[in-house]
This record gives sequence, C-alpha cells and structure tokens, in this order.
Amino acid sequence: MAEIISGTAIRKEILSELKQEIQEMHEKHGIVPGLATILVGNNPASVSYVTLKAKTAKDIGCLEIQDNRPENISEQELLDIIRQYNDDPRIHGILVQLPLPRHINENKVLYAIDPDKDVDGFHPVNVGRMLIGGEVTGFLPCTPAGIQEMLVRSGTELSGAEVVVVGRSNIVGKPLSVLLAQKGRGGNATVTMVHTGTRNLAEHCRRADVLIVAAGRPGLVQADWIKPGATVIDVGVNRIGFNETTGKPILSGDVDFEAAEKIAGKITPVPGGVGPMTIAMLMKNTVLSAKRHLNLC
Ligand code: NAD
Repeated sequence: MAEIISGTAIRKEILSELKQEIQEMHEKHGIVPGLATILVGNNPASVSYVTLKAKTAKDIGCLEIQDNRPENISEQELLDIIRQYNDDPRIHGILVQLPLPRHINENKVLYAIDPDKDVDGFHPVNVGRMLIGGEVTGFLPCTPAGIQEMLVRSGTELSGAEVVVVGRSNIVGKPLSVLLAQKGRGGNATVTMVHTGTRNLAEHCRRADVLIVAAGRPGLVQADWIKPGATVIDVGVNRIGFNETTGKPILSGDVDFEAAEKIAGKITPVPGGVGPMTIAMLMKNTVLSAKRHLNLC
C-alpha cells in the first residue's frame, strides 16, 4: 500500500515554524506580518475560504484585516481600497478572494496589487520572476509552491525524475511545470505537461516517477496509468454529491484513489492532501514579505 502524504500534517509543521518566526520577529523588531483579505459579496465558498485564511493568519500571530465589501461595490472603489493597502506599512500581503462579481475586471484588480505585497503570486511581475528563477525575489503561487513543498518534505526525489503534470491552467499546471523544472531545491526534474490536446494521455502518465493531476475530472486517472512505486499528487477537488446526513459536499480527486494506492509508492488523499498546503504557503509568503520589508532577507 502507498504511503499517504498528508497535507494536513505538513501544514501543521509549516504553521508551527512560521508561528515561531513571527514571535521572534515581534520580539526583535516590534512588528508582525500583516495580511489584508478582501472579500466582495457573500458567495458561501468564498466566505468559508476567506474565513479560514483569516483565522489561520491570526492563529500564527499575524495582523489580519478581513475587509468585506458588498457585491455592488464599483471597480473604482475596489481599486482605491487596494491602493490604500499598497501604501499601508502595517500590511505586507494583500489577497483578493476570487471570483469577483461580473461587473469587475478581475485582471485589473489583481494587477493593481503592489507585486511586493502580492502574496498569492498572481501578478504578472511575480509570474515573470518565477519563470526567470534563480534567487527568488517574488512570490511563488501558493498551490504549486505547496505541491513542491510537500514533495520535498515527503522525501520524493525530484532531481532527474520524470514528472508528468496533467493540466495547463495558470494557477496550477503551468506554474508547477516551470517550478519543478527549475534548478535548485525541489526542482531539476524532467517535466512533461499534458492537457486536453495531448494524444495518448495514459502513455505519458505511465512514464511518470511523479504524477501530478490537476484536471478537475473525477476518476480521470486509473490505476493502470500509474507506474508501480510512483508518487501521485492529486490536486483535483470535485464535488461528486452531498452527504445526506450532514448536507456537506462529498469531495473526490482526479485519481481513482482506492485502486491507485495499491500501485503507487506515495499518494495524496482528497481531502487532506494538496488543499491544506495552499493556505500554509499563503502564510509563508506573508511572513516572507514582512521579512523583506524589514530587510531581513
Ligand atoms: P482548470 O479547469 O483551469 O484547468 C484544468 C486543466 O486540466 C486544463 O488545462 C485542461 O487542459 C486539463 N484537462 C481537463 N480535462 C482533461 C482531460 N480529460 N485530459 C487531459 N487534460 C485535461 O482547473 P485548475 O484551476 O487548474 O484546477 C484543477 C483542479 O484542481 C480542480 O479540481 C480544482 O478544484 C483543483 N484545485 C485545487 C486546489 C487546492 O488547493 N487543492 C487549488 C487549485 C485548484
């Protein structure tokens, strides 16, 4: 049976390291990292994501400002709010919860965030910095960085490994493929990015020492697509029904987990795999930003 890579356990480890760092920062420099989370409207999923991010930030000792705005806020008002946080020295990270209402241009809003406070890593300046690589001066996008971190912390060899990434989205597949191919810690892999235009998808997957699936298609990857002993990272989060007793959604990944765990060497569950890592990396970016603003790194 495959070893389970628990994102929940790794997140706990990372948050406890960050809490320690924040305490030291406060003792030595009298400041704590500040995170502003901006939520427009009251979409239930967005409310629950933002609440969790805000709670996590507070738990580790950050200053957290949860800024909730009504659905009908104008684009200009939202841009003005972002500019205020850009100029606020207490704030080191700004996060705008997506999606935004249709009357607001998402890119315009994301691009208004100061790249040096863009802890989500979505600003084109940070995407460019990530692509160039070398000394990291920007912020890495949280989900890909979280996947890289869980591979490293689970002892998965990446240098020289055949990695296959299923999916080419801007938030997961594309940046992840770049990160894992870069030189350095958690990189140096030979990466193949496959997608809906790929012929013989299964054949590519079978070659992978590390198979990462971010397609948003429940059950896409079957056991016979997996090389025996491979590490399988399932990024997919799909609602496949509702629990009749609790009313909560039943989640499934993109991999047929029960069959895959008999073949893989290591595997991530859904939920409890990649999901928890995303928040941990958001906190890591916020602490990193505060350190940079203090010229500590
Ligand atoms: P997306 O829909 O933007 O992209 C999916 C990609 O998968 C596309 O590039 C497409 O080419 C590829 N794809 C889809 N079906 C395919 C198929 N049958 N064969 C080959 N390629 C196929 O999705 P996304 O934003 O990258 O998210 C992917 C999944 O990861 C979703 O389930 C999403 O909910 C989940 N996700 C999880 C986290 C997390 O923190 N755990 C974060 C982001 C996304």
